[in-house]
Amino acid sequence: MRVLLVGSGGREHALAASLAKSPQLSKLYVAPGNPGIENIATLVPLQADDVQGLVSFASENHIDLIVPGPEAPLVAGLADACIAHGIPCAGPTKAAALLEGSKAFTKEVADAAKIPTARWERFEDEDAALEFVRRRGAPIVVKADGLAAGKGVVVAQSVEEAETAIRHLGMPLVIEECLVGEEVSLFAFCSDEKAVLIGAARDHKRLSDGDKGPNTGGMGAISPPPNFDKTAQEKALDLTVRPMLAEMARRGTPFRGVIFAGLMLTEEGPKLIEYNVRFGDPEAQALLLRLKSDLLPILAGVAEGNLDNAHAEFSDDVAISLVLAAKGYPDEPRKGGIIRDIEKAEALPNVHVFHAGTKKVNNDILANGGRVLTVCAIAPNLHEARNLAYQGAEIIEWDDKIFRSDIGL
Ligand code: ATP
Repeated sequence: MRVLLVGSGGREHALAASLAKSPQLSKLYVAPGNPGIENIATLVPLQADDVQGLVSFASENHIDLIVPGPEAPLVAGLADACIAHGIPCAGPTKAAALLEGSKAFTKEVADAAKIPTARWERFEDEDAALEFVRRRGAPIVVKADGLAAGKGVVVAQSVEEAETAIRHLGMPLVIEECLVGEEVSLFAFCSDEKAVLIGAARDHKRLSDGDKGPNTGGMGAISPPPNFDKTAQEKALDLTVRPMLAEMARRGTPFRGVIFAGLMLTEEGPKLIEYNVRFGDPEAQALLLRLKSDLLPILAGVAEGNLDNAHAEFSDDVAISLVLAAKGYPDEPRKGGIIRDIEKAEALPNVHVFHAGTKKVNNDILANGGRVLTVCAIAPNLHEARNLAYQGAEIIEWDDKIFRSDIGL
C-alpha cells in the first residue's frame, strides 16, 4: 500500500516508525514530516492543513490510505475531501471531529448516548452564568466552548474564581460539576459502530515537576497507567466510547479514526471528560511502542469501515515517553541550538527518540520549536522503562534542553 501520513510531530514520527515496519507498505510519504521522519519516509512539502494540496498529491501519487496525525487537517475537512475523491482516510469527517471542537456538542452526544459524564449546562449570557455558579457553589468547572489549546478550562476552587473565569473566557461557555478521581486517557481504533481497544495512558500536561507551571501540549506519558488494567479499559470503552459511536452513526455522522477519551476514574466509575479525535502527543509514542500487530491493515480497516478482523495486540510491557522541550517553552522556546548524541541515546536497549521541533542544517540537528524530541523506552516494568528513558534524555547534548524529572512517578 502507498500511504500518506499527515503531520510533523513526535506522534507522527512514531506513527511513521510503526507504519514503516508493515510488510504491506510499499511507499510511505509524510507531509510535512520532520528530520527524524526523513530517515524512514519521503517528505512532502505540504502543510498539515493544506487539504487541497494533500488531496491533489494523494490523487496524483495513487495513495491508498491517508493517515492524519493532528486535528488541524480534520477540522479543515481533510476526511470530507478524501471521501469526495474516493481516497480512504483513517480520520473523522468535520462533522464527527466536532467531538473535539465543541464541548457542548460532546456533552449533548454523551447525554443522548447515556454516557456517564459531569452534569453540565451551556450559557450564552454572562449574567445567567454568574447566577448559576453563585447558586451551585465551588468547586466548579468553567469551559470555553471551542478549541482553546488547553487554555479554555478553569477548575475553580471558589465562586470568585469561577466568576473571574466566566468574565475572562467570554461566551459561549459550558459550566460543569467538578469530578474527583484519577485521570486517564483511553484510546481506540474506531470505525462506524465498532471500537478496538488500543490501550490507556496517563499524561503530564504541566511544564514543571509536581504538575506545576503552565499547561503545555504534554511533557510526558506512561502506558498503561497503574491501576487501570485491560479489563477496566474494555469496560470503560463499553461505557464511554461504544455508545458514542452508536449515537454518531444514528445521527448520520459516523466516526472513523482514533478516539481519545479523557476519563476521570471516580468512585462511581469512569466518567467522560472530553474526546479528542486523534492520538495524543506524547501518548501515541508510548502506546505505539507497545503495539505488536501490524498498524497498517488496522488503519486501512478504520478508513474502510471494516474492523471485523482487526487484530490489535499490545505488549504487557510498560512504555514511557519523555518530552525534551526548549528553554522558554511554552511561551518563547529558544531555537537554533545544536542537538548532539541522539544516536547514542538510541543505542540504549529499547530506547527510541522521536523528533518533533527539529530542523536539519547541513548535517546538524537544530532545535526549531517548543517540544523538540520525545525520548521513549519500553521495559517489563515502569521502573526500568523510566530508568532507560531518563538515561537517554541525559545522554542527549543540547544547551537549551529542559524536561520533567517526575514522568511516571
Ligand atoms: P481546551 O479545549 O482548552 O484545549 P481541553 O480540551 O484540554 O482544553 P478538557 O480536557 O475538557 O479541556 O479539560 C482540561 C482539564 O481540566 C482536564 O484534563 C481535567 O484535568 C480538568 N477538567 C475538565 N473537566 C473537569 C471536570 N468536570 N471535573 C474535574 N476536572 C475537570
